[in-house]
Amino acid sequence: MTMQLDPHTDIASISRTVATLRATFQSRATRPLAWRKEQLQRMIAMLEENETDFLDALALDLGKPKAEGFITDLAFVTSEIKLMLKNLKKWNKAEKVPTPVVAMPAKSFRIPEPLGVVCVIAPWNYPVQLLLVPAAGAIAGGNTVALKPSEVSPNVSAVLARLVPQYLDQTAVALIEGGVPETTELLAQKFDHIFYTGNGKIGRVVMAAAAVNLTPVTLELGGKSPVIIDKSANIKVAARRIAWGKWLNAGQTCVAPDYVLIDETVQDAFVDALRTSLIDFYGENPHTSDSYGRIVSPRHFDRLVTLMSGGTPIIGGESSAADRYIAPTVLGNVSLQSPLMNEEIFGPLLPIIGIKNTAEAIQFITERDHPLALYVFAEKSSVVDEVLDRTTAGGVTVNGTLLHLTSPHLPFGGVGESGMGAYHGVSGVRVFQHMKPVLKRGTKIDPKLPYPPYTERKLKIFRKVL
Ligand code: NAD
Repeated sequence: MTMQLDPHTDIASISRTVATLRATFQSRATRPLAWRKEQLQRMIAMLEENETDFLDALALDLGKPKAEGFITDLAFVTSEIKLMLKNLKKWNKAEKVPTPVVAMPAKSFRIPEPLGVVCVIAPWNYPVQLLLVPAAGAIAGGNTVALKPSEVSPNVSAVLARLVPQYLDQTAVALIEGGVPETTELLAQKFDHIFYTGNGKIGRVVMAAAAVNLTPVTLELGGKSPVIIDKSANIKVAARRIAWGKWLNAGQTCVAPDYVLIDETVQDAFVDALRTSLIDFYGENPHTSDSYGRIVSPRHFDRLVTLMSGGTPIIGGESSAADRYIAPTVLGNVSLQSPLMNEEIFGPLLPIIGIKNTAEAIQFITERDHPLALYVFAEKSSVVDEVLDRTTAGGVTVNGTLLHLTSPHLPFGGVGESGMGAYHGVSGVRVFQHMKPVLKRGTKIDPKLPYPPYTERKLKIFRKVL
């Protein structure tokens, strides 16, 4: 495998590349379903035939355990694509809808048509999945697409830069490598949609660049995703499911539990159960475990070590700069004013805050930005219902973590500060399409009723039928 640690696409070539994508789109080459099917099948082949290269690159960039890389970055993409292939015809067919009486006789349809040339900008934490799932949706929807992987995961970026042109139609799918200068130049081009995944600060940069051309955007952002643990919760199961969702990818997951609000009466039992789960998962010393990842870069490592000072470690707290290791860490005695509680953590630190009751937890959450995900653990369904009713979040898993994002039947995305727009399943194709409304009339029958001159009699009829 070629190792290219600071990959950049020549900036001067970017406008030419996008012009090629535009010409291909205008040639209608991406319209036939056969073309789309072939590209999607080739994308699966790219992932399957080069599994080792992808998993090695994920290990180099993120210390990702092979099983984690396989499930979250490779199999996730192939299963989304398989669903697209299975439904390609159905999802690209005109949808017949009813016609209102005022427009009768006629037939009405919503015809899915591709938006055109779209741009997908991805972050580093699931660098294959977050680039290729939107890319596959764009292709299934009949678009051409420019792909920008994150420069923060350079090994994965290099593998993608080598394989994408090898497997996919180069006139319709282009990959641009690099960081801020390359992305800035890319965003200066005219696109028909921009799909950005990353932090909200850059989300604003993307939206401002898109505004120049009135380009619609999907922003898949992050935020602080809370967990509520009610006193009725099954504490052992809650601890195991939270530990899994939190320490997968060393906490570098957009929907990872960010902090826990727990009924004080069950807090000690929960911390004990978390400790047990961590030993079950990673042994007595997670530093030596093959199942635990690393922080993506020294810069991100330093930020997390600094964040730790917002609380007192109850579990973990150890770190090693040499291999960017931070132990699974649970923090008590948390300062609400600290950066720990005011920035998305995006790492393996879990602050725990004791609360008196669920109402207090709900108030805590509603006083803050809408999170990307929210988790509630309770056996009492009235508690679950109250939390669902009174809080807003991009998505929710009840008595679990992360899993709502695995369902292609549940559109995935944020709300407010956590983003706009959604994808996965059919939503992942629709996001790159315009559902063109068409009302089709015949000319044999042409009732005179709607036309002037208007009479009292006509008004009477309008009052009756409308
Ligand atoms: P990142 O640093 O890799 O940035 C994301 C992309 O933005 C990269 O491709 C990068 O090159 C580009 N970029 C950076 N600076 C830019 C600039 N000035 N102009 C234009 N483009 C620029 O990733 P990140 O932002 O650190 O990612 C982590 C964030 O992403 C977290 O907030 C996380 O919650 C969020 N996230 C959200 C989802 C989701 O699906 N909603 C998934 C993963 C991550």
